[in-house]
Amino acid sequence: MTRIDKPEKIPSVHRLLNDPNGVELVCEFGAPLVTRSVRTVLAKARAQVLAGTTIEYASLVKALSEKVSHTVTPSLRPVINLTGTVLHTNLGRAALPESAIKAMVDVARGASNLEFDLETGKRGDRHKHAEDLLCYLTGAEAALVVNNNAAAVLLTLSSLAKRKEVPVSRGELIEIGGAFRMPDIMAQAGCKLMEVGTTNRTNGTDFELAIGPRTAFLMKVHASNFEIRGFTKSLSEKALAEIAHRHKLPLVTDLGSGTLIDLENHHLPHETTVAEALRAGADLVTFSGDKLLGGPQAGIVAGRRDLIKKLKRNPLTRAMRPDKLTLAALEAVLSLHTNPSRLAMESPTLRLLMRDYADIAQLAARMAATVQEHCEGFEVIATPVQSQIGSGALPSDSLASVALKITVPGKRRPGKALIKLAKAFRGLPIPVIGRITDDALWFDMRCLEDEGSFIKNLKELTLA
Ligand SMILES: *Cc1c(COP(=O)(O)O)cnc(C)c1O
Repeated sequence: MTRIDKPEKIPSVHRLLNDPNGVELVCEFGAPLVTRSVRTVLAKARAQVLAGTTIEYASLVKALSEKVSHTVTPSLRPVINLTGTVLHTNLGRAALPESAIKAMVDVARGASNLEFDLETGKRGDRHKHAEDLLCYLTGAEAALVVNNNAAAVLLTLSSLAKRKEVPVSRGELIEIGGAFRMPDIMAQAGCKLMEVGTTNRTNGTDFELAIGPRTAFLMKVHASNFEIRGFTKSLSEKALAEIAHRHKLPLVTDLGSGTLIDLENHHLPHETTVAEALRAGADLVTFSGDKLLGGPQAGIVAGRRDLIKKLKRNPLTRAMRPDKLTLAALEAVLSLHTNPSRLAMESPTLRLLMRDYADIAQLAARMAATVQEHCEGFEVIATPVQSQIGSGALPSDSLASVALKITVPGKRRPGKALIKLAKAFRGLPIPVIGRITDDALWFDMRCLEDEGSFIKNLKELTLA
């Protein structure tokens, strides 16, 4: 045991590198990375020793292995989402159907006709790939795919409303989260936002009065993650479209989540579909690929061909273009949408949203017993809860579900113990993410499908 209690006793970089452990690490990962890691470990040790801590040489060797392994292990990895929010933005939103994963792997492995026309043998257009299916599924004349819906909104504003005015209802000037605020996006696109009506009520006259010679289009924004209740009035798509068209202006709707199917057919609350918005008179509709659509991160603009053409001519389109993996996955997901019964089985998003309560309850009962075995000192009880759809879709609608409620019996202030337990679950080979509220740690079982790997994973749980 070599005790290090003075800065002079801190080993040299050379010594750690030539230690058997160091030699092994250099063989596997190369000298530059290991040397850099040694320097980091030694700097930390120096600070500790100067602060009066005594450390063992062996702990430096261990810290070096951990530091190297931390650097080479990808930081982005799968987790188990038991938060109860199905489309969780921080946990990557939609899980993809197998057909989409296969499509991505197929184009990832080698060359593809991303921008190559197989018919003529000449250069092709990457924006053609998903367009036909999008038009079929939405009734739009044309469609354009970009990296996400924030980009779709920015591109639309920048292409059609630069140095012009865009009236929006005050009740729709939203912040989605992740710093997407409608007024800021408008400013970034060089448009002048005209706030119309009041926070709770906007009527047709308010819009009529806001329209002037510099108006580019009228805009409707899906309120997504909040709801105003009480004495309220807002204009329907149809009423707003009538006003816009009377003034020879387009109506642009940012639907946010944008589903392509009628969710009511799947016993879920109704959410305006893209086709409905277009039928009601919207000239362009923007929506996300990875919310209710259940696809990859993408933003889609669908609607009038002449307007989409203007968007395509904007140089920003080049900066926002989707990659081949996104297009491959999106096409597969859209193709599933042509067959609603296959979609309900194969799209994880729809399957988890529709999941039968009795099925979740039985799973929760089984898992409560299993988790209890690994959580000595805690009490695990299957408890009815409400799951959320998430990602701003239907914020006030929740889905009956069952969670494991983990409490600390006999402790009046369980906060610290619960935080520690949640951290232990996050430290598993496949991190398990729940949420702490009401003096309990909750694991909503709605999104747990692979029971076997969950149980295997639990064996590694260490409660220090
Ligand atoms: C989610 C959302 C956005 C942003 O979409 P991203 O795909 O996350 O960029 C924009 N507008 C509305 C109304 C939304 O709900």
